[in-house]
Amino acid sequence: MIVIERLEKTYGAQRVLQGLDLHVERGQVVCLIGASGSGKSTLLRCINGLESYQGGQVRAFGERVDQRAPTVHALRSRMGMVFQRFNLFPHRTVLENVMEGPIHVKGQRPDCARHDALELLRKVGLADKAAAWPAQLSGGQQQRVAMARALALCPEAMLFDEPTSALDPELVGDVLEVMRQLAAEGMTMVVVTHEMGFAREVADRVCFLHSGRILEEGPAAQVLGTPRQARTQDFLRRVL
Ligand code: ATP
Ligand code: MG
Repeated sequence: MIVIERLEKTYGAQRVLQGLDLHVERGQVVCLIGASGSGKSTLLRCINGLESYQGGQVRAFGERVDQRAPTVHALRSRMGMVFQRFNLFPHRTVLENVMEGPIHVKGQRPDCARHDALELLRKVGLADKAAAWPAQLSGGQQQRVAMARALALCPEAMLFDEPTSALDPELVGDVLEVMRQLAAEGMTMVVVTHEMGFAREVADRVCFLHSGRILEEGPAAQVLGTPRQARTQDFLRRVL
């Protein structure tokens, strides 16, 4: 479903992704781990066409992902993305935040969009917050609204960039629970995370990035439990 081959991405003289390969099958959950600056966010941004790249290729749903192609918007709407910072529209209610995409991107009728948005808010446990303003919610609740908003476009895959790293520890669990549920429903997911417990439990595969390459990948239990590479071992010693 997502096929990346020999991906090269540079910023000026800096080679951020250096011949990276990654395949994600439909329904798989792949967790990306690695030190700060190893290229995790850049990789996600290349996958949904937010970045250009200099070499290799990125394909999603059988199409080439090209930031400059007119088709990139259609492609992007098939992939939901959730960031560390939730970026809700502050002057719209929770419900309006979730309805926005379906109405403006997909041309859905407002009454249908409202019905679906309420359903999604129920799914993320926030049905009672539909009329609230984003500023009235905790960070964890805002992040779950951001997920509902991404899901409202009926994406076929979801990309998560450290969705819990800006949250107070007691708020992390609810957000991970929504992700766990999505995974159980068969959503294809690429998740950048430092939540090793989540990765161990939910990921079909864990990939360790180092200097813009995947240095080690495999089943979560293997990569996290008995890493083969010294750099993976070092990284895990530091984060666990
Ligand atoms: P973190 O765990 O801190 O989020 P990361 O693995 O997500 O790190 P990236 O954000 O992908 O890392 O950045 C990889 C490298 O690319 C870093 O050295 C960063 O400084 C550089 N970089 C990222 N975005 C830009 C940009 N827009 N312009 C220039 N350099 C950039
Ligand atoms: Mg990052």
